[in-house]
Formats: sequence, C-alpha cells, structure tokens
Amino acid sequence: MFNIKTFTLLSNILLLIKCNSKIESCFNDETCIENDIKYSREVNEWTSKISNLIHYEVQTHEPCVRTNCSCHKNVLEKDLEPFSDGVTKEIFELAKAKGTIYQIINGKLYRSKDCHFPARCAGIEHYLKILAPKLPDVELAINTRDWPQVNRAWGHKKAPVFSFSKTKDYYDIMYPTWSFWEGGPAIQLYPTGIGRWDKHRTSISSAAKNWPWEKKVEKVFFRGSRTSEERDSLILLSRSHPDLVDAQYTKNQAWKSDADTLHAPPASEVSFEDHCKYKYLFNYRGVAASFRFKHLFLCKSLVFHVGDEWLEFFYPSLKPWVHYVPISPKATKDEILKYVHYFKTHDSLAKQIAERGFEHIWNNLTDDDVKCYWRMLLKKYAKLLKYNVVRDKNLKKIS
Ligand code: UDP
Repeated sequence: MFNIKTFTLLSNILLLIKCNSKIESCFNDETCIENDIKYSREVNEWTSKISNLIHYEVQTHEPCVRTNCSCHKNVLEKDLEPFSDGVTKEIFELAKAKGTIYQIINGKLYRSKDCHFPARCAGIEHYLKILAPKLPDVELAINTRDWPQVNRAWGHKKAPVFSFSKTKDYYDIMYPTWSFWEGGPAIQLYPTGIGRWDKHRTSISSAAKNWPWEKKVEKVFFRGSRTSEERDSLILLSRSHPDLVDAQYTKNQAWKSDADTLHAPPASEVSFEDHCKYKYLFNYRGVAASFRFKHLFLCKSLVFHVGDEWLEFFYPSLKPWVHYVPISPKATKDEILKYVHYFKTHDSLAKQIAERGFEHIWNNLTDDDVKCYWRMLLKKYAKLLKYNVVRDKNLKKIS
C-alpha cells in the first residue's frame, strides 16, 4: 500500500509533468494556447509533424533547371491538353463571346475596336506587340475580367478562352496577367494601377536589403481590402493579438462604410517596399488570384499562402514548405497562431524558406520569363488551330 512518502513523491512527479506540459504549450512571447497535458502532447506531435514535413519536402524537391522559362512549361501543356484534338472554328466562335478578340497576322497585331478595360488591354498588348513579328498567324479570345469563364464543373462547353487566373475546374488557358506591365488595381499608392513588375523587382529587392532577416520585426503583416472573407480570421487575430499580427483592411473602390472593413475604419495603405520590414507576410486570394503573391517573395520575408485553388501561370512552380508556408483557407485564429509560433521557434527554418522563395521568384519570374511564357504559349496554341486565320476587318491594327 502507499505510505505518505510515496504519495508525496507521486504527487510531485505529477506536478512536475503538469508544469512541463504547461511550459511546452506556451511560447516565447508568453502566450499560451491551452495548458492541459493532452493538448501539450498534441502540440508536440503537431510540431514534429510540421518539422518532418518541411524536411521531407525540402529533401525531395528538385529545383527546376532554368532554360527559357522551362520551370513553367508544364502549366501551359496542362492548360492546352483539353484542346489537343485541335481548335476548330466552331469552338473558337464559342470563346469569342467571352473575351476581347486579338489576331496576329503576318507579324502584325489587331484587336476588337472596344476593350472593356483599356489599361488591361494595354498591359497585354505591351507583350503581344513585342512578340508578334516572330509569331505564326493566330487568333485569340483574351478575357480581361478578374474571373475565368469556362467552368467544366458547371457543364460549360469547352472553349479556348485565355484568362489570367483560374482554378482546376476551368478550361481557361492561363496567360501572364496584364499587370506585369500595367493595368493592375489602382490604389491611392499606385493611382495609375499596379504594374511594371520589372521596376518592382528592383525596388522591392533593394528595400529588402534594408531589412535583413535579423532586423525584421517578428510580426505577421497584411494590408489589403476585403475582396474575400477568407481574410477575416487574420484581421480578427490582429485585433486580439496586436503584438503578434498587424493585419488591417484598407479601402477599395467598392468601400461604402466601416462595415466593408469589418467594422473598423480603413487603414492607410502600405507600399510593397514597406512590407519588407516584417518577417511574416500573408497572401490571400481576392476575387481570383491576388497580384501581390509574387511581390511578397521579393522582401525575403516568410510568405504564408492561404488556399491553393486559385492560380496564376507561375504558381505551380512554387512548392509548399520549400518556398512558402501553405495555410488552409478554413484555418481558425488559433490554427494561424500555431503556425506563427512554430516559425518563431524555428527561426532558421523560416529564414531558409524565405530565401528559397526569393531565389525562385528572382530567378524564374523575370520580365524575360513573362515574354518567354507568352511566346511559348502562343506558338503551341497556334499549332492547334485547325483552320486558317483570316483577317477580320472589324479589328483595328494596334501600332
Ligand atoms: N496593396 C498594397 N498596399 C496596401 C493595400 C493593397 O500594396 O496597403 C496592393 C495589394 O498587395 C494588391 C493590390 O494592392 O496587389 C490590391 O489589393 P486588394 O487587397 O485591394 O485586392 P486583391 O487584388 O488582393 O484582391
């Protein structure tokens, strides 16, 4: 039977286990998620699961060999695969209603007289004009809206519409967005619209030099408007944990009252360059993919990418855990906190992922890569045409 000494010893051991579990489920900044022993064990298991996952993904990752935008080649092959039997005049007619019509004939570029978003068309035409002299005759239906057009899951008939972003449910063929050059969202900071990726590459990567990893503020940072409710968890987390997260909604053109910024006054906008001050940057989808994803990598901060559905042509070349941290769009505030705590306590892993993300975008998403992707895409698409392209007199020449 137990005597009093054994009883005291046992209760001390139990107390010690409990204390340890309490310590392990708390973090350097003295926030605690929960304190019971079971939860602590779960946190430990989760932590080692994440560490193993990162280790495995990094070890098995084969960096793509860069020759002529080849890192993105499989994306256009996959997008064109549904049209491998050829593009007939009939299915092109179906596409025509869903985009702006362009033709390239004898190296010259032509377009429908009207363009719904002139700045977006200008951003597209910047690349097409450069490439046209060396391209075969081709005609295209280019969608300049934010959202894609031909959804196989909704039973839409297959049609070759070019869109900048899509999910796997769509037949749309992805092209490099207009905003690589011009026509991106116009915000107060960028009143003529976000564009000139070539210039942003230089200015943001220079700003990153002022904020080397060790100097960065150990906080999550996000600024943007409420183009998708998926962003709400992070905004609410910022309100309850301002020491750890600075995420606030800004105005967009649709803003009417504080209700549109989740019942708080809109925050001032912050330039891409000033994002580099922070260690952890979040990317969310908006209406479709958000243009900010590529910019965030240039800060050499750790990018958290929420959701994997919405794509641009270069997304598949980026690998989760190797170049960024993938987060579920359904992640609760506590789940987001767990990831932030994990990387605060695994700082060198965080820094390595941030550096790999930067290197990948810096090396494989240059303005030349954008031109190269357009060229490769249009040459392959032109080969699929089963009819001769005849000059449409309703189109105007783009000089
Ligand atoms: N943006 C910015 N600073 C801000 C707010 C927005 O640079 O303070 C950029 C943002 O990164 C994105 C664009 O403006 O590239 C539009 O952002 P928003 O959140 O309004 O829409 P999204 O396109 O992300 O759905």
